[in-house]
Amino acid sequence: MWTPQQKRRLDEDCQILSEDPLSATTKLAPSPAAANDEIAVVAERGKVACRDYPHPRSACAKNPFSTTPHERHCDECFCYVCDIAAPCLSWRGLGGHCHASDKDKKRKTKRLMVKQAMQMG
Ligand SMILES: [Zn+2]
Ligand SMILES: [Zn+2]
Repeated sequence: MWTPQQKRRLDEDCQILSEDPLSATTKLAPSPAAANDEIAVVAERGKVACRDYPHPRSACAKNPFSTTPHERHCDECFCYVCDIAAPCLSWRGLGGHCHASDKDKKRKTKRLMVKQAMQMG
C-alpha cells in the first residue's frame, strides 16, 4: 500500500504597484514636441522604478528634484517637455526644461526656479 502525497506549494509573490491617486497629472500646456500623450508620467517617489526605468526629471530617485540642481540628471531621466532623454536642447538655463515637472504645470513656481538657478550658479 502506498499513499501518494503530493504537496504543492505555490508561492506567488504578487507585487502590486498601486498608483498614487494623488499624483494625477493634468495636461494644461500643449507640449511642442510631445506626439505621444500616452506616456504615463507616474510620479512614484522612492521606488526602484524611478532608478531603473525612464522617468521625468522631477521623479528622479537618484537626484531628488527638491534637493538637487534641476540640471543634474541620471541616465534614465527624460525631459518632461520634449519627451526625450535628458538633456534636451533646451535643458539648461533659467527657463530650461530641466525645471519642468508635473507640478510645475499646476502651480507656477517661478520663484523656486529662480532660486534653484541662483544656487546652481
Ligand atoms: Zn533620473
Ligand atoms: Zn526639453
